[in-house]
Parts: sequence; structure tokens; C-alpha cells
Amino acid sequence: MNLQQACRKRIFRDLIRILRELIAKGNTVIVIEHDKSIILAADYLVQMGPKAGALGGYISYQGRVEAFLKEDDCHPFLKASSQAAPLKAGKTHITIRQLAKHTLEKELLAVPIGGITALTGKSGIGKTTLVKDIIIPSINLGQSVNCAAIDWPKSIVGAHYFEPKKLRTHANTLVVSYLDLLKHICKIFASESHLKPKDFSYKTKESQCPNCNGTGVVETHLDLTANTIETCDVCHGQRYQPDILVHEVQSKSIAEVLAMTLAELKVWFTIFKAFAGCLERIEALEDIGLGHLSLEQTVQSLSSRRKTTRLALELAARCPKKPTLSIRRT
Ligand SMILES: [Zn+2]
Repeated sequence: MNLQQACRKRIFRDLIRILRELIAKGNTVIVIEHDKSIILAADYLVQMGPKAGALGGYISYQGRVEAFLKEDDCHPFLKASSQAAPLKAGKTHITIRQLAKHTLEKELLAVPIGGITALTGKSGIGKTTLVKDIIIPSINLGQSVNCAAIDWPKSIVGAHYFEPKKLRTHANTLVVSYLDLLKHICKIFASESHLKPKDFSYKTKESQCPNCNGTGVVETHLDLTANTIETCDVCHGQRYQPDILVHEVQSKSIAEVLAMTLAELKVWFTIFKAFAGCLERIEALEDIGLGHLSLEQTVQSLSSRRKTTRLALELAARCPKKPTLSIRRT
């Protein structure tokens, strides 16, 4: 067991103790939880699933935890004791010689690639400098920047840097735009009509409903503390002008396509074959259980697993076809 696992185990042990103390004082605690130690410590278990989003809402088990562990559909993860994930040393490296920028100086640094490499240390110690002033510009410009020499496997064709605050600026962006799928959907609609792709964007002023400006909702300011958000009664939540909504592809208007989940869009895209890159991006999200996300969901509205979900979206949005170095600030 590594240090992080030991800390995590202790945190959950303390949390369970606090929950027990609350119960001893006459309280009832209902926990929405994915962590195994909390699930196993519960007196009563309600499992929902297996599918999420529009396909979710089913209660697949309710009862004692001990009985659930004997059920056929109980996931092996819950039945078996947890094992530490085996860590492998990286086989190849980014090798940097005589790096120097601000206070950061080092004769030789080897950064393993092909997995996750954590860069840690106190604030102001040079982590961001190493990434933003040395590694990323060197790889993207193809030459040594702020170091005497840098070598990396030439299979890596680019480097990207993500910051949570960048994602926050996309809070009101729809999943379909964030994943850069809207332009492909618009192209398909344009190819089946006499209109241009931009005419099918809910962001285009001439195409959007003038009452809600393409948002499908209207916010009413009642007083200083309470606002109400209601479906637009002009477009009925469809975002577009009627002359855009009359165009259909495979019996669906642009508003009906935007109301799809990622999994449904994949099936719709399959018919058009020319969008292999989009399919890859959607499949990557389906593989980690996010196929139920609605295209017209805002990035801000993503579920309680927001941080994980947003990270998955971030990576999928940039889903590189070729090996790429992804560096993320957490
Ligand atoms: Zn409207």
C-alpha cells in the first residue's frame, strides 16, 4: 500500500467513525457514495443502475450489504479485497539537459512518458516553469527552449496544457460545442439542404429563436434572491427559428439531434461514415460510462462526479489521433 492509499484509507475510516457518531445521536445518514469502504460499511444498501441518464432510474437492489455480496450481479470489485495497482516504470523519457529558467536549474532531468507522471512540490518552486516554459514550447516548436538540449520520442507530435480555470470559462458551453461536434452536425444538415453550416448553429443570430437567443430557456428575475428559469414559450425549448427546424436529416430536425445523448449521436453519425474522428471521440467517452450525456447539457451541469467527468471531457475534446503529451494542472 502506497502513501496515498494509506492516507485515503485513513480518511474514509475517520469519515465512517464520524457517521457512526451521528447515528448514535439519533440521526439517519443517507450517503450518495462510490467509495467501496463506505458502501461496505452501510447498514442498508440501495443500488441504482446499471444504465445512467435517460436510461437510468432503476433500483436494482435494496437490502443488507452482506446479502448483496452474494448476488450474481454484484460487481467483483466489491467482493474482492482491494489490491494496490501495480506501477510500472516508464520505458522512454523526455530528457532535458542544462535546463535554466528563473530559479529553476538542473543539469539533467528525465521525465518518463507513456503513462501518468506527477509533478509536485511547493507553490512557486518551478513546476509551471518546467512545463510551460521548457517542455511544452520545446516539443511544439521542435527545438530546445530554456535548456541546452531536449530529446523526446519523435512519435509525440504535440503537447497540450489544461487548467481547471479554462474549463470554468466553458461553464455555459453545451457538451456538443465543447466536444467540437456541432460543426460536424451542422455540415451534415447543410449538405442535405440549400443552407450553410453556420445556419444550423444555435449561436447564429439569424437562426436562433429571438426570444431566448438560442438557449431554449428564459430567465426571469423575480427579486434580488430568486430567479426562475423556464422553457422558452416561443420555441418551446428548441432554440431555433421555425424555418431552420423544418429541415430534417434521417427524420430528425437540428433540435431533435441536439436533444440526443452521445450514444444516440454515435448511431446517427454512423450513417454518414465521413466522421470517423467524431466517432472515436464519442467512443472514448462511452468506454468510461459517459455515453448518456446529453448533447445540450451544459458543462456546468455535469453530475456529482464533476471533476472526473470534466477531465474526461477535456481529454476527449482534444482526443488526439497521434501520441500527444497532455499536461494538466490540478
Ligand atoms: Zn426560444
